[in-house]
Amino acid sequence: MIQLYIPLGFLGVLYREIKQSLTDLDKMFVLLEKEREIADQPGAQDLVLDGPPSVQFENVRFSYEPAREILHGISFHIPAGKTVAVVGPSGSGKSTLARLLYRFYDVSNHEPGGPHGGGRILINGQDIREVTQSSVRQAIGIVPQDTVLFNDTIEYNILYGRPEAGHEAAVAAAQAAHIHSFIQKLPLGYATTVGERGLKLSGGEKQRVAIARTLLKNPPIVIFDEATSALDSANERAIQAELKSAARNKTSLVIAHRLSTVVDAHEILVLVNGEIVERGTHSQLVSAGGVYAGMWALQQSGTD
Ligand code: ADP
Ligand code: MG
Repeated sequence: MIQLYIPLGFLGVLYREIKQSLTDLDKMFVLLEKEREIADQPGAQDLVLDGPPSVQFENVRFSYEPAREILHGISFHIPAGKTVAVVGPSGSGKSTLARLLYRFYDVSNHEPGGPHGGGRILINGQDIREVTQSSVRQAIGIVPQDTVLFNDTIEYNILYGRPEAGHEAAVAAAQAAHIHSFIQKLPLGYATTVGERGLKLSGGEKQRVAIARTLLKNPPIVIFDEATSALDSANERAIQAELKSAARNKTSLVIAHRLSTVVDAHEILVLVNGEIVERGTHSQLVSAGGVYAGMWALQQSGTD
């Protein structure tokens, strides 16, 4: 009897552990949606950082499915603490650049049917496939195009990435992201459960939660993927100023839908069908009279 009892107790502990892991996994999948297995190389070391790093894409080719290459050899350099902006039509591969830098996918994964490609991405000269994925993600704050929240409290979602920062820091970040007064009006305030199984937030509200999370995380690299596209123009203008100060002295990749947000970028890349068709500063591109100049004229005329 005793012998039977002990294994059962053990199983209970095991069951609770497995259940907890499944809950965590479930949360991860909700956040990352199409997260695939990215394995660290045996003995991979953490990324070594000393202030804002440089970021380099070297001839990056990538496809989600072998038959359709999405990026056809992309090269650019973001010097430490500078901003490179990417503009271009939808479907051109802008978000794919962001996903590769955040290491949702690795560029050379030749598993049959899996994502593959070529070239490499370096942070401070370190190939991101050769360092730990967790250290890459620790160094980067991303405001994705479509934020998916954890099924947990709104405070948990804001503090994710730096949970030790605490409530006051979450409030300060929420204020900067213009979501604090919305949260305060909820019956449970910061303890409100959000996500698919909680309170469903609008696209703009989710985007502001992601902005608050990134402001609070205060990482050396930031990626804004059309970070304010779901906001109305009044909110967008107010938050742009916060994003600008959040990106100051950080290495930034900014994917923009509104060109007014990229005029100060160190370099602007115009991506069309997975290729950089123009590159330069705002004034260089406007005087070149090409694709960018056309987009700029269109947005200035207020028709877009
Ligand atoms: P953009 O951000 O410029 O609108 P994306 O990088 O999101 O473009 O997408 C580029 C291309 O890759 C599109 O044709 C899109 O359909 C395709 N794509 C994006 N994600 C996936 C995926 N997970 N699997 C297969 N194809 C994808
Ligand atoms: Mg996109």
